Amino acid sequence: MSDTGIHSDEIHQIGGETIANPRLAEAYRSSTIRLYTHRLNSVSGFAGFERLREAGREAKRQVIENLDYYLGQFADNVERNGGKVHWADTAEEVCRIVVDIVRRATAKEVVKAKTMVAEEVELNRALEGAGIRPVETDLGEFIIQLAGERPAHIVGPAIHKTRDDVSDLFVKHINAERTNVPEELTAIARRALREMFQKAGVGLSGANFAVAETGTVVTVENEGNIRMCTTIPRVHIALVGIEKLIPRLADLGVFIRLLGRSGTGQKLTTYTSLLTGPRRPGEDGPEEMHVVMVDNGRIKSLADPKMREMLYCIRCGACLNACPVYRKIGGHAYGWVYSGPIGALVTPEFVGIGQARELPFASSLCGACREVCPVKINIPDMLLHLRSEAQQHAPKPTEALLPERPAFRLWAWVMRHPALYRLGAKFARWGQFPLARKGWIRKIPTYPVSNWTKERDFPALAPESFRERWKKL
Ligand code: SF4
Repeated sequence: MSDTGIHSDEIHQIGGETIANPRLAEAYRSSTIRLYTHRLNSVSGFAGFERLREAGREAKRQVIENLDYYLGQFADNVERNGGKVHWADTAEEVCRIVVDIVRRATAKEVVKAKTMVAEEVELNRALEGAGIRPVETDLGEFIIQLAGERPAHIVGPAIHKTRDDVSDLFVKHINAERTNVPEELTAIARRALREMFQKAGVGLSGANFAVAETGTVVTVENEGNIRMCTTIPRVHIALVGIEKLIPRLADLGVFIRLLGRSGTGQKLTTYTSLLTGPRRPGEDGPEEMHVVMVDNGRIKSLADPKMREMLYCIRCGACLNACPVYRKIGGHAYGWVYSGPIGALVTPEFVGIGQARELPFASSLCGACREVCPVKINIPDMLLHLRSEAQQHAPKPTEALLPERPAFRLWAWVMRHPALYRLGAKFARWGQFPLARKGWIRKIPTYPVSNWTKERDFPALAPESFRERWKKL
């Protein structure tokens, strides 16, 4: 695996900077809570949602357990429809295949729809290196391309930008008039992008789903730009992670409803496109359709029964919005393209635990991610598995564990001696007296517990323990 430049230990520094920046902290807080609430409202009034989740999970289980069969079926059907299938094991292979197709099409520009796989393989860098201009056409991706950043969220790449930030970027990079009215900002982006759709020889998209039964690439969106990228240019390239397959067209109804409600709280997203081969006589659409099937670490997860379930993910982003850690530290702290609870699984799996050893620890294990996941992925269990992998294969330096090890040993010993535990709790209650105010401790001076109160308050011990109350009752 190539060095991706990920340094997951920066999660502490970048996360701390986000928390300390009131504008950024508020942008993450308000955006995630808005999406979380939309999802909640959308699923709470929908009686069949649990059944839908079970059906989605079962369809994904079926595909992932029989991936070789469904990959073969999908590829045969794409070719039967007139498309061309390419297989890429690594990020470098994906980039090489795409650059070759673009060169053969003699195109100088590529219009891109939002695709996390393209971010994952750093396709823009490869295209630019080959003298080809990639143009992001999703509004959020367009904004972060101008800012030179990575996506901050799977569904909303520019979730961390305010309208003033966007206005600054448009003034600086595309000579736009200053405005912070959302409709006017959108119109500016539309004008800048419209001519690119006509000019570009190649359009590139990802795939939300790939239907094995029919060889269909399915994309969902709200802006209409994916439909333009995949139909106006002469050549269409779709990057498809091998886990994106679903067995039958009939399953699509399940996933479309799960994705919209879980991601943004919509019953359905505005546009759903089913792309089955290039254009036929009398039709609109591209003359050539290329489907690049991407492994880049996925087969390794498939081979590990403890991590396989990670491949059920439909990238809805719900676990990010629900995660108390993501809400605070934001997407960039995770150091790569995937963030939040699913990023804490995907990144170590794809780039190796050595480069991402801190990520599985960036979780309170509260289970909120599993609760909202439309396909019920057991994220907390897999995080625990990765924590133990991290300790085996990329152990922390002994000096970093020095304060933790004796503290946890002492804690375990006390927990095994109830009388001692009760006595300890009594002392702790007296000891906290000078520090506790209205049920909270603002600052604990003793290391390593002092780390906790650097960024947040610590709940004070209750004046009466449960056992004491129980006795009285
Ligand atoms: S893990 Fe589940 S909730 Fe998170 S992005 Fe994937 S499908 Fe959505």
